[in-house]
Amino acid sequence: MTPEDPDVIIIGGGASGMMCAGIIARAGKQVLLIEKNPELGKKLSISGGGRCNITNAEFDTRVFLSNFPKAAKFLHSPFSKFSSRDTFSFFEKRGLPLVTESRKRTFPASQRATDVVAALKKDLHAPYVTILTGTEIKSFTKEEGRITGVLTRSGTRYHAPYIVLATGGLAAPETGSTGDGFRMLRDTDHSVAESNPNVVPLKTNAKWVHRLSGTSHSFMEIRFSLNRVTKIKKKGKILFTHFGISGPLVLNLASQVRGLLKRGPVHAEINLFPDTNAGDLDKRLVRLFDKNKNKKLRNVLPEMLPKNLAHTVIYLADPSLGEVSVHSVSKEGRKRLVKTMQTLGFMITGTLGMGRAVIADGGIELEEVNFSNMTSRSHPNLYLLGDILNINRPTGGYSLQLCWTTAWVAAKDLIVRLESEDTQDTVDESDK
Ligand SMILES: Cc1cc2nc3c(=O)[nH]c(=O)nc-3n(C[C@H](O)[C@H](O)[C@H](O)COP(=O)(O)OP(=O)(O)OC[C@H]3O[C@@H](n4cnc5c(N)ncnc54)[C@H](O)[C@@H]3O)c2cc1C
Repeated sequence: MTPEDPDVIIIGGGASGMMCAGIIARAGKQVLLIEKNPELGKKLSISGGGRCNITNAEFDTRVFLSNFPKAAKFLHSPFSKFSSRDTFSFFEKRGLPLVTESRKRTFPASQRATDVVAALKKDLHAPYVTILTGTEIKSFTKEEGRITGVLTRSGTRYHAPYIVLATGGLAAPETGSTGDGFRMLRDTDHSVAESNPNVVPLKTNAKWVHRLSGTSHSFMEIRFSLNRVTKIKKKGKILFTHFGISGPLVLNLASQVRGLLKRGPVHAEINLFPDTNAGDLDKRLVRLFDKNKNKKLRNVLPEMLPKNLAHTVIYLADPSLGEVSVHSVSKEGRKRLVKTMQTLGFMITGTLGMGRAVIADGGIELEEVNFSNMTSRSHPNLYLLGDILNINRPTGGYSLQLCWTTAWVAAKDLIVRLESEDTQDTVDESDK
């Protein structure tokens, strides 16, 4: 086939679309990759705060899949073909070594998400890949119920025997994932679950939280309560922002908090020293004050906490204490400091919504997907990748691994189908 007459049309040049296109092209098949942004890989290039948490180095697939509670049973087949271990070799073969950090989160050694985009682009070249950027697909074209191609917003039609839908979900729509694929799926009688921002920062109106913007502390406990009853309690790292709180702990609890918000006002309370009881924390203060008798509290407390956080604790406990020498802080004053450090409270007013979501759920219902090759059960020439699938998951590299796995499985199946049409049926494992 020729560039004008492609074997495969891929809609969406994000993580999964680019990888799928590259693998098919390496097998010498013609791909037309259509992306509505002026550039490929916009979301990928900002992923992981610009560092791209490309996968999670949990190599036990059962443990890995336990992070996709509702979808695990569907994912065993694709992950048996391409797992997180394969992601290492795939990118290392393309000149992108990976490094693993805490909680097995894995990043490019260069710490640059744009290098991941560049590695994927290496396989996207003529004569096998034609890239149309700035081109928005409006709908599929159909003949006698079969999907035969796509129609662009400006009215151009492209046809191919196989179509890959890789248009993403609804999180961070400014990157291009505005739910177009969901609409196209509904138009072809697929069931698509509604999307909600699931991994998303939380908002508060508490000014002291906003003033802490940029401050984080690694081991805090946060409790969320409804009508004074604690509903969620977890320890980890929290990042204060100019609108509220974020960081992996908060992001991964956000969908539960969103559920609570539907039932009433949600109060959050942070304990900066969750493993120390009030008596022991007071003793720590006494020891610290003994060492620094004539210094002001505002200069001493930062020995226990990040400076901004220490000053906030003083401000909330009793602002007048800040300028006092520690030897003049009364037992009552210490008690207020301890209580404040263990019960920093504020109301949650909502989430930042889709615009700032890292992960949204929603997408095609999994029962309608054949996970052995990532095709639609009702339209076997339509492939479905990445965020288009209704799979919820936490942060930590799991989302992108889902893209790599589904892209690889779809691409390999396409190659086999295209080659069997040419009376060949070999699968090249060397692309891993
Ligand atoms: C801020 C942020 C940080 C993240 N960080 C991480 C991380 O570190 N690790 C991780 O695992 N996951 C991360 N994620 C999630 C991860 O980026 C996504 O799961 C992943 O990018 C989804 O890839 P995709 O190919 O399915 O879709 P996308 O990357 O969203 O790509 C879809 C593409 O399709 C195009 N498109 C849409 N509609 C049309 C149309 N009608 N016509 C033509 N083109 C169209 C879009 O413009 C877009 O380029 C992050 C997400 C966000 C928002």
